[in-house]
Amino acid sequence: MYKSLSVMFTAVFLLMCFGCTDNSVGTDKDQIKSADLVLLNGYITTVDTDIGNVSAMAINDYKITAVGNDEEIESYISDSTEVINLNGRFVMPGFIEGHGHYMSLGRSKQILDLNDVSGWEEVVSKVAVAVDKSKPGDWIFGRGWHQDKWNSLPDNAVDGVPINDTLSKISPQNPVVLGHASGHAAFWNDAALEIAGVNKDTLDPEGGTIVRDQSGKATGLMRETAQRLIRDARNEYEGRMTPQQIENQNRERVKMAADEALKFGVTSFHDAGASFETIDFFKQLESEGELDVRLYVMVRGESNEMMDVALPQYKMLPEGNDFLTVRSIKKQIDGALGAHGAWLLEPYMDLPETSGLVLETVEDITRTAEVAVKHGFQVNTHAIGDRANRETLDIYENVWKDLSVKGEDLRWRIEHAQHIHPSDIPRFGELGVIASVQAVHGTSDGPWIPSRLGDERAKDTSQPWRTLFETGAMITNGTDVPVERIDPIASYYSSVTRRMINGDEFYPEHIMTRKEAMETYTINGAYSAFEEDIKGTLTPGKYADFVVLSKNLLTVDYREIPSAEVEMTFVGGELKYQK
Ligand SMILES: [Zn+2]
Repeated sequence: MYKSLSVMFTAVFLLMCFGCTDNSVGTDKDQIKSADLVLLNGYITTVDTDIGNVSAMAINDYKITAVGNDEEIESYISDSTEVINLNGRFVMPGFIEGHGHYMSLGRSKQILDLNDVSGWEEVVSKVAVAVDKSKPGDWIFGRGWHQDKWNSLPDNAVDGVPINDTLSKISPQNPVVLGHASGHAAFWNDAALEIAGVNKDTLDPEGGTIVRDQSGKATGLMRETAQRLIRDARNEYEGRMTPQQIENQNRERVKMAADEALKFGVTSFHDAGASFETIDFFKQLESEGELDVRLYVMVRGESNEMMDVALPQYKMLPEGNDFLTVRSIKKQIDGALGAHGAWLLEPYMDLPETSGLVLETVEDITRTAEVAVKHGFQVNTHAIGDRANRETLDIYENVWKDLSVKGEDLRWRIEHAQHIHPSDIPRFGELGVIASVQAVHGTSDGPWIPSRLGDERAKDTSQPWRTLFETGAMITNGTDVPVERIDPIASYYSSVTRRMINGDEFYPEHIMTRKEAMETYTINGAYSAFEEDIKGTLTPGKYADFVVLSKNLLTVDYREIPSAEVEMTFVGGELKYQK
């Protein structure tokens, strides 16, 4: 896959250079004499293997005109050119977030942020502050808590998670719904349980668990589909908002998501799932020029019948300075490892009565895959456990065989691809299935993964990036924001060190090289969206999407990577963020 990419770049390179009179790479000077923007005196890594590193870049409108040394690019400067002296700073293509949730990111900025709490007491005290500010009956939302990141746990915890007694005491009249960092569980107080109609007799829904104490009382922890038990009540509550209030809230979410993305140098964002309704909203914003980050949105939550009818009108391929691409469908076969929802080949070590949960069936995803082939859409399936990964690879392979299509041209993806049985790892490369990983999950989950799987299975199956690369797979990178912060530098650090917060390395035999990690966040992300001709490298003719960083991610001591900061973010030649 890498080979065919670089051959293609060579062809582009030769075409563009035909007629050049100097060594710079770019459009014929007779056509463009002056640039809108010129950057000089930098360390610019183009990520284009045929160009390598340069010191200067010229930009016109939303595209790169030329790259080269200072002397070459200075010739593009005229009276109307804006010139930036980089003073040796590091420039690279804008980060492509390979898997996140755009509206949830925006929403996470509107509700209680529980990502960095030190323990249960802090969760309760944050909610208490919110209760003080609310009227009785108002709902209180939060998200981002993760029990394994806390300093301590209350003694009466069940399944490693507190019970809701203190939460119910401080918020007797306000339903409290606190999403787990993984998105695969939520924690409710008694007011929320009551409004959802959950009592001692309520049965676990299919694909979910109402966690209970010894007396049978719900503790507040709702796993997977059990979270949906409150959906009707919540819809009723939110239904009291006027359409205008809802639209304003959604517009604010998009704005907050963009601000956060640009602050972290993310210029393109793969949104892992939006309904047709949300896609219509994005389309409206794009037409108003209100999308500041380029979105590749996966269709999510529509029935196979509905997609079969509507996909043709929802296919949106890039044209011009484009901010919205739709050409893929998101599916989800299992849950997450942290909440014992990942579908495993063998039972959990620390919960032997289960091997995880199946959230969308093999039959359902198979039918989706057939619809996707018919309409030329990619299928991007969430698969975390080793069983989930195997089943998904089987579905893809079987559907391609049955429909006699060349699967490797379709660029179908597995989202997360966290735990893969050694015999399945080479199948990614063989089939051309893209592993859409979040390197930062490996290091933030690393401390507790062996407790779920046992050391041997963890070592054999967890985030096996090196073996994936060696067997010809393409890997993209991301954060699954708001599961993790959107910070690509943190995920890059995880990629090249696999160092956990305690300083230990998580099976370091799978560390990526800096070059590989840089590619996972740029050109590979572009490739996985069929956008490698327009983004992912700083090649003349592509979008001028790039970032200026305070440190050189390719050469700085690894210990300094986490403190590297985004100083400027450009999208389509426009400065969208400045520190
Ligand atoms: Zn996700």
